Amino acid sequence: MKYGNYLSPIYRLSQRDATTVPRKISYSQWSLYERCPLSWKLNYIDGLAPFQVSIETCFGTAFHETFQHFLTVMYTESVKRAESINFRDILTAKLKEEYTRCVAENAGEHFSNPLQLAEYLEDGVAILEWFKKRRSQYFSTKNWELAGIEMELCVQASDANPSVYWYGFMDVVMRNTVTNKILILDIKTSRNGWNKNAKSDSLKLAQLITYKNYFAKQYGTPKENIDVEFFVVKRKIMEESMFPQKRIQNIRPAAGSVTQKRVQRSIDLFIEHCFDLEGNKQADKVYLATAGKGAANCKYCPFKTDYERCPKENRIRE
Ligand code: SF4
Repeated sequence: MKYGNYLSPIYRLSQRDATTVPRKISYSQWSLYERCPLSWKLNYIDGLAPFQVSIETCFGTAFHETFQHFLTVMYTESVKRAESINFRDILTAKLKEEYTRCVAENAGEHFSNPLQLAEYLEDGVAILEWFKKRRSQYFSTKNWELAGIEMELCVQASDANPSVYWYGFMDVVMRNTVTNKILILDIKTSRNGWNKNAKSDSLKLAQLITYKNYFAKQYGTPKENIDVEFFVVKRKIMEESMFPQKRIQNIRPAAGSVTQKRVQRSIDLFIEHCFDLEGNKQADKVYLATAGKGAANCKYCPFKTDYERCPKENRIRE
């Protein structure tokens, strides 16, 4: 478990020491492979991925920690104490801390400026204050308890390979004390919320399907008792809209058995192609350069102008 996070004692027995497993894979690894196998190879076999940092990821981390702190206080101390939290103070401290850490990792190079940082801070405070006023619409202590914050998943990823483990952290996990239902939330910070394209991006949505499958496997909860939801927060809302604008979008992806099986099948194929039974990465396999329709997969790829490692003529556009 990451330092400073919360885990309800009843789940501790199902935790595994992640340092003892032969090979760990994550949602970001698998989704990268799904979009473009060659980019996965260049990143994870050849180790060529450059350190990438942005104000969005930096703000995202600071916001997550502030929001998660609120929920931890609310469920482990009291609603009153949580509501007395000064969001501005906490978010300012966390943003400073995270930005300093990222600059240090970025070889001391700055990637933002005071004006931009101040704008992100104000956006974050606006989201948190908006949420605080409507807290009861989103979270209640009646019949709900906190199961975990940044709750760890470390579980065999495919029945066909005993050495590869799914590894990740779930932002927020709640348990209904009456129905025993589990609700897994993934917090996403976004500029304007998710549009139609984002909501129908099956690979994006699959993140929560993997959490559902692997949570069931690791913690022994029946899948039908697990709900999953993206908790998308918007930094900007339309100022002159005719309708009241929400700062939060709750998006529940289709997570039935057909979707679960489809996602698991594609993880099985990823593992079969990329790892041997001891969990070693298979460098001698073919990894296709899949640029996708309109080269959409290349847009943020660090190798998009590296024509030596990813020759233009090999890029599959479909
Ligand atoms: S540039 Fe495009 S095709 Fe090449 S590795 Fe990156 S995503 Fe794949």
